[in-house]
Amino acid sequence: MSNPTIGIIGGGQLGSMLSSAAKNLNIKTVIISDDKDAPGQFFADEFIYCKYDDNLKIEEFCSKVDFVTFEFENIPYSTLSKINNIKKVNPKPAINKIIQNRLSEKNFLNKNNIRTTSYISVKNENELKSSQDFIPGILKTCILGYDGKGQYKINNEKELDDLKINFENHYILEKLVKLKKEISIIITRFNDQKYEIYEPIENKHEDQILKFSKIPAEIDKKIYNQSKDWAMSIAEELKYVGTLCVEFFIDRNDNLYVNEIAPRVHNSGHLTINAYNVSQFENHVRAVCGLEQIPLKKISNATMVNLIGDQITNYRKFPKFKDNEFFFDYLKKEIKEKRKMGHITTLV
Ligand code: ADP
Ligand code: MG
Repeated sequence: MSNPTIGIIGGGQLGSMLSSAAKNLNIKTVIISDDKDAPGQFFADEFIYCKYDDNLKIEEFCSKVDFVTFEFENIPYSTLSKINNIKKVNPKPAINKIIQNRLSEKNFLNKNNIRTTSYISVKNENELKSSQDFIPGILKTCILGYDGKGQYKINNEKELDDLKINFENHYILEKLVKLKKEISIIITRFNDQKYEIYEPIENKHEDQILKFSKIPAEIDKKIYNQSKDWAMSIAEELKYVGTLCVEFFIDRNDNLYVNEIAPRVHNSGHLTINAYNVSQFENHVRAVCGLEQIPLKKISNATMVNLIGDQITNYRKFPKFKDNEFFFDYLKKEIKEKRKMGHITTLV
């Protein structure tokens, strides 16, 4: 095959960065998105705007590409499997189905002897009011949550009694972990037992949104090894192809828990663009398109700070950066509160 074309579902910043990585490999990109202002259109070779149930547009998309991937996990399973019948989708839609739902995701992890927070399924008012054992906790929608959306922190029994929830959605209630630290592992699986794995990344969240990441993570050897082992067994168990992120909690007694799995490239891995010979985005494109696997080498330690909402404004006006600082503007049309607008990676 001459150089393949990769189709990317979703046109946010992750789709943009995947497109840039593909371009460096001489691979063409077609982005399909249900947002006509999606910034990915400025980075891809071609952009298709449609709703994800528009069969004609989806067929047009499939006819233009050789391989398909996605930049966010909440694509309807029916859409993904329809596409997969025409062009190969990686990660496989069946994996997405497990991970899209917090309950099946956590059940999958526990079945594989990987520790998660304690949790209980909550489908109605009665189940919620009788779940005192999980307080203090966080109630989360099973599907369609991100950046803390669809989450309710419940500090005590009074708050539990007072909470009014619309039970159209299925929820889980997770016991609150007394956090010491959060870390993530980014891993790209190419094939059976064939991986490239980045070192653990330390993350800080503000208002449940990632604010800051750095390598190296300040963690002990046991957690370093355990997090890598768990990430590898998750990727292997899922027979995953592409880049995957596993988010972890470390509690005050140094217990490690998997918080969640993102079946895609991840915000905490943005620093890999500048800190490694091959970024998480390039590795994803390589794995999905069946290209050569290149051994990872770290070039530098790094920090990454997210620019959220109008934090980007000054950097746009006065783009003055040192040689070791790398500014990324996602070119989103509108600045909104809590919206990720860009980031800065600093090599240290
Ligand atoms: P999202 O899908 O929105 O990223 P997460 O489940 O990862 O949702 O939660 C976002 C952040 O909220 C986490 O990174 C963590 O900082 C905090 N958080 C979520 N669940 C818990 C928990 N059970 N205990 C302590 N902190 C939590
Ligand atoms: Mg998360």
